[in-house]
Amino acid sequence: MKKNKISKNWINKQRRDIYVRRSKIEGYRSRAIYKLKEIDEKFKILKQSRSVVDLGAAPGSWSQYLAKNIKNGKILSIDLLQFEPIKNTHQIVGDFTDGKYKAQIKNYFNGKIDVIVSDMAVNTTGNKNLDSIVTGELCLEAMKFSLDVLDQKGRFVSKLFMGSSFNEIVADGKKLFKEVRVFKPLSSRKDSKESFIICKFLR
Ligand code: SAM
Repeated sequence: MKKNKISKNWINKQRRDIYVRRSKIEGYRSRAIYKLKEIDEKFKILKQSRSVVDLGAAPGSWSQYLAKNIKNGKILSIDLLQFEPIKNTHQIVGDFTDGKYKAQIKNYFNGKIDVIVSDMAVNTTGNKNLDSIVTGELCLEAMKFSLDVLDQKGRFVSKLFMGSSFNEIVADGKKLFKEVRVFKPLSSRKDSKESFIICKFLR
């Protein structure tokens, strides 16, 4: 399919999408907010949490949701891209996989973290298997980081795509955490291979 045909299809899809319209009405920067909201309502990931990291945060709808729901806590949002600041969140622009930024995250909290959420994804190449592998690597990197910085009762949530590395990531999650679930929110597009892994309580 030609590039301008793909973008026309994307624009038409956006216009028809109820979550896009709802996010505009409710003042959120992206329809992605409803995925985190569904995850939180079902798995209570933010319950009694005071320190949260949002990985791959731009344009910022997950961080908006976190800022609204975490009172008197610390929220840090990181993305490769700069985005409009959100009140009561600390923003870092950088590559999360770079040790320098991991150190900045650790220093900001100066102690264990309650929740790490990751919606990190690379720009899709059109090759679904490749996209799933690269996004899977980001998920594993985030999981490894959570092992280092998460509180024992902490929660880790990450986007992942159905594909060749899916089972391996879920198996790794089960080695590190006592509770592991995979969930596709209703607001995640049906034609997307996206799902989320929700992990609780480090082993
Ligand atoms: N959750 C966001 C929201 O609600 O607005 C949407 C996130 S968007 C689907 C994925 C983001 O992951 C992109 O903005 C991209 O720049 C970011 N990303 C990808 N790789 C990253 C990395 N290595 N470090 C930091 N951010 C990354």
